[in-house]
Amino acid sequence: MRIGIVGGGQLGRMLALAGTPLGMRFVVADEHADAPASSVAEVVCGDPSDPATLARLAARVDVVTFENEHIDSGALADLPVPVRPSPGALGIVQDRLTQKQMFMRLGIRTAPFAAVSTAGELPDALAVTGAAAVIKTRRGGYDGRGQAVIERASDAAAAWDAVGRRPAIVESRVRFRRELSVVAVRGEDGRIEIYDPAENRHENGILRVSVAPAPIDERTRAEAAAAVRAIGEHLGCIGAFALEMFDTPAGLVANELALRVHNTGHWTIEGAETSQFENHLRAVAGLPLGSAASLGHRAIVNLIGDLPDPAEVLALPSVRLHVYGKTVRPGRKVGHVSVGAADPAGLAERLASLRHLPGAS
Ligand code: AMP
Repeated sequence: MRIGIVGGGQLGRMLALAGTPLGMRFVVADEHADAPASSVAEVVCGDPSDPATLARLAARVDVVTFENEHIDSGALADLPVPVRPSPGALGIVQDRLTQKQMFMRLGIRTAPFAAVSTAGELPDALAVTGAAAVIKTRRGGYDGRGQAVIERASDAAAAWDAVGRRPAIVESRVRFRRELSVVAVRGEDGRIEIYDPAENRHENGILRVSVAPAPIDERTRAEAAAAVRAIGEHLGCIGAFALEMFDTPAGLVANELALRVHNTGHWTIEGAETSQFENHLRAVAGLPLGSAASLGHRAIVNLIGDLPDPAEVLALPSVRLHVYGKTVRPGRKVGHVSVGAADPAGLAERLASLRHLPGAS
């Protein structure tokens, strides 16, 4: 089967690496001929937000999926081959406002929020959220971009400028014990495989470390699983999706949903029976899903802005190195290191030995 992927970044590359043993062939659409996926996939070179690029991709494959959500869901809907997950689901998820409204409809707790489209609406929004808030553009943000923190009402105008005066949501700042995410994959037959929740640590708005399984109680785990199940069914999603949540004393608070394989699920490559990448492809190809069960304890550390000496990393026990083939630049995720252990204490010890890796703040 020929799989088309909109976007040829590291997620596209890891998808192609996971699907090649299944006999799948990959074509990615990317602006850059030397995109990270280009070493394992053919490239249709062009702007993925241009419908003509998508049409050229679709002409060469049996099914289209995406590794990046900042694409025109209307143009995807016009393609002559199946698109998975569906463009309709993408349309809901790529806008933070409709995403949050979906959470509310499904009874999934969120931080209080309000939509703003002009500076004049900020005071009313802060009346809903309180003065300690975060403003986020409705579309297009990632890795902390398109976001600004508001500490007090007098910061609001500067925050509005910082996000480019674009349609946004303002939401209350959540005091959390930890950040969690759950990756799930829903197959063509409606079956959902849910991975163990991961605990995530961000630095400067960028994911630095994910640890799975997260150290949470059964009640929290069940709450997280119920939320992703409800979302997967509501969207009729075929493929992978990831829900980021805050773990608070009052229960879980949904932060954001990604309709794709996710950085906080990279631990599944070595740490689960079937990785998020393989299961996403199985779903997209209409194949049975594999088990999402964890194999021991696993963590990943993102390599940000630079790469380590591979000989030093690979000398450590139970470590795997993933290099994305990207040009090294400050603040850019250029790879990750995955490390495993039989128990949480052993994993914490091995993680400590990785503290010096590029990207530590
Ligand atoms: P996001 O792009 O929405 O995932 O936000 C990136 C990171 O900013 C999150 O992982 C949190 O660390 C932080 N953050 C985002 N929204 C909030 C919030 N409402 N309250 C506290 N921290 C937040």
